[in-house]
Parts: sequence; C-alpha cells; structure tokens
Amino acid sequence: MLAELKGLNEECGVFGIWGHEQAAQLTYYALQSLQHRGQEGAGIVASTGSEITSHKGEGLVTEVFSQEQLDQLVGHGAVGHVRYTTAGGGGYENVQPLLFRSQTGSLALAHNGNLVNANALKHQLERQGSILQTTSDTEVLAHLIKRSGYENVKERVKNALTMLKGAYAFVIMTETELMVALDPNGLRPLSLGQIGDGYAVASETCAFDIIGAEYIRSVEPGELLIINDDGIRSERFTYATNRSICTMEYVYFSRPDSDIDGINVHSARKRLGKQLAAEFPIEADVVTGVPDSSISAAIGYAEAANIPYEMGLIKNRYIGRTFIQPSQELREQGVKMKLSPVRGVVEGKRVIMVDDSIVRGTTSRRIVNMLKDAGATEVHVMISSPPIKNPCFYGIDTSTHEELIASKNSVEEIRQIIGADSLSFLSVEGMVTAIGRPDSGENKGHCLACFTGKYPTEIYPDTLHPYEKELTH
Ligand code: SF4
Repeated sequence: MLAELKGLNEECGVFGIWGHEQAAQLTYYALQSLQHRGQEGAGIVASTGSEITSHKGEGLVTEVFSQEQLDQLVGHGAVGHVRYTTAGGGGYENVQPLLFRSQTGSLALAHNGNLVNANALKHQLERQGSILQTTSDTEVLAHLIKRSGYENVKERVKNALTMLKGAYAFVIMTETELMVALDPNGLRPLSLGQIGDGYAVASETCAFDIIGAEYIRSVEPGELLIINDDGIRSERFTYATNRSICTMEYVYFSRPDSDIDGINVHSARKRLGKQLAAEFPIEADVVTGVPDSSISAAIGYAEAANIPYEMGLIKNRYIGRTFIQPSQELREQGVKMKLSPVRGVVEGKRVIMVDDSIVRGTTSRRIVNMLKDAGATEVHVMISSPPIKNPCFYGIDTSTHEELIASKNSVEEIRQIIGADSLSFLSVEGMVTAIGRPDSGENKGHCLACFTGKYPTEIYPDTLHPYEKELTH
C-alpha cells in the first residue's frame, strides 16, 4: 500500500558512519535509500574529529542537499536522518539531527521512534530550568545528557538513556565519536555494518547495500555502541531487555531488500501471503497486490494457491507528493491519482486483492471500487496481517482508536464498508509463524500491540491522544 494514502506512516530513518573520508557523501546516499521512512525533512551532521558542520532542511533528501552543500560537510564521521512529521509537529527546528553546541563540545542527535514518557520528562526538565528549543521529544535526551552529573560523555549518555521509556534507535555524535543506542525492547530496527576500516549503523540494511558496507549484526536491545578512531566497543546501558521488534516493519514499513535480524523482508512477506492462502483458500482467476508493499505477499499467495499472479493495479509513479494531502477527501482523490487498475487483467475475472493492512478502510474501499469499475466480477480482499485495533505509541502514526476501522467494526462490517465480496485477515499466530523469528517467549520477539492491545512498555497517560484519554477514564 502507498504510505501516504494509508494513514500508517513511519516516522523516521537514522544513519551513522565513522571512519570513512567520504562520510557525508555516503550518508547522503544512505538517506536516499531510507527515504521511504520519512519524506518531510532530512539532515546530515559531519565531524572532522575536531569540528562539526551540519545542514538540514524540509523536503526530500535530493531537495535538501546540493553537491555544494555536501562538499562543505567534511570529516570522517557523520550522522543523518530522514523525518516523517508527527511527534512534535513539523517545522525546520524539528528536522534532525538536532545539534547542540556548548563550551564542553557539540552533540548531534538523530532518533527513530517515540518516547512514551517525553512529556513527563519535558515538564521535569523545564521545572529544573532547561529551555527546550524544539517540540520534538528527541531533544529531551540532549538535556538529560547535559544535566547528568557524570564526568565523561559515555557515562552521561548511559545515565540519560535509563530515564527514557518507549521506542528509540538513537545515533549520537560528538566531535570525536559516534554512539548508537537501542531501547530495551528493540522496538525499531537498527543494524551495524562495516565499510573499509570504518563502521556504519542504519535503520535498514538496504542503506548498507547502497554504500557498499557489509552487514555485521543487529544492534541489541539495551546496547550502547561506541565507535571512534580506536575502533568499536559494545556496552550495555541496561540488561533488563525484552526484544519486541515492530511487526509492521516486516509487514509493511521496511524495504523488501532489507533484512531485519537476518530475515529478508520480501521473503517474510511472501511467507505471509502463503500463510494467508493456507488459512483462507478461495477460488479465483487472478491474484493481484496493492503496490508496492503488498506485492511480495500477493506473489506468495498466488504461488501457494496456484492461481496466476497478475499486475492488476499499477502505481502512477510521477505524481508529485504535493497532491497527497492529509484530509480524507483529498486522500481519496490521491488514491485515484496514485493507482490505476489494469482493465485487461481484471475484466471479467474473479480477483483476489492482497493488501498488507487496513487502517481507516477508505483506501481499500476506493481500490475495490476501482477494480469493479474496471470489470472485475468478484473482489476478494486478503490482508496479510491481523486487524489493527489499537493505536501505536512507538513512532508509527496509526491515529486513534476512533480512526481505526477495525477497532469499531467486525470483519463482516468492514467487508460491507469496503464493498468486497469477501474479506480475510491473517491470524496473529499465522503472522508470527510466517515471519519466522527464532526467538522464544509468548510474542517470539515481536511487538504485536496494534493487533492485541498488549503494549510491551508502560503507556503514560499524556502519551495518549485526547480521545484515547477519554476512553481510559
Ligand atoms: S504497536 Fe504495531 S506499529 Fe506500533 S511498534 Fe508495535 S507492532 Fe509496530
């Protein structure tokens, strides 16, 4: 499904590199490969080992950086960020990496995820005299690091990290080193790679492929990596960890060529499609997927069901982003402009349409209508994940209970709303088994909260949307 139409948006991608003379240029390429994780803003901070320079702006990576600007970002260390605007709102000051300069040195920070206790910490910091420059919760970490009583930066970072709750993959850079931290639940993906004598970290491994880095391993929950001119060191800021990777990274967000904890995303999606075919066999003439993220699952379904996979929907690739607006009416118009049915494929056919998820349902209704208008005799909608019934507080913009169609309607009611001939959602167990993580434990290393309502961390009341607060009273 198309991210900007679905109402299910990733908030950010992070990248960091140390020990390469072309650090900023490579960060630029890496950010382009992470562009699907955020299109609202981008930034790079580079370090020579003694001096830090930065450039950031609103828009796509290619819009923010010219070659001239990149040439000014000199040094063998760099951190970069792409941003989707929700937490803290938009605006230049919230584009990351955030850079703080002081007498004792500079600190650049880039964050993927969402802190559930950010507001509580902000109030506490303000009471203690801190003046926050942005509305982004990322800044909280900078203030906590600054205020920590420890002598050395690493101990201050460790101490500050223990105060955070929620999802965070942080890359932090001073003039002399890069520090990388992942929250105790490992909610967001973060991988470590090697490039020449240097190291790189990225939200997704597709960033390594584009710069020629070699994947080493995932960063572990509760781990703090310190990378500098002496090499790399792994330390822990906590041992109280419980891996709960965001399942939607496998289902929908990550690029199909990325691997998460050694599992290729395209292959996982194909298995989700196969599992869907095993759980819901149905007679049909063609299987089609909603581009781009559902194509792998559709291929998997088609293979397992022995029904031809066809390109029943195509994406109009050259529609500008500005056409896609966040209002309902314009979002629906956006669907029309972004996707087209292939009449020659669907006319007179019973079509299985595989999609990765349903959030509000309006996009699904529009696509079903589109296929029927193009002559499909039946449209059976197969969703390669379970119904999303609960909002996400960990950096994914899944709106509120109120906006989630599955929180208020049964599967049959949703079927009627979207006008499909049948509608099926993959089971939670089927999804977890198909993804195939080797973890033990009830959730097999997954966060499943948007499906099950069981959140892996405490949720603070002020994290909730006003409507959600009413619900909890
Ligand atoms: S609640 Fe859902 S979208 Fe949010 S982190 Fe968990 S699995 Fe991912």
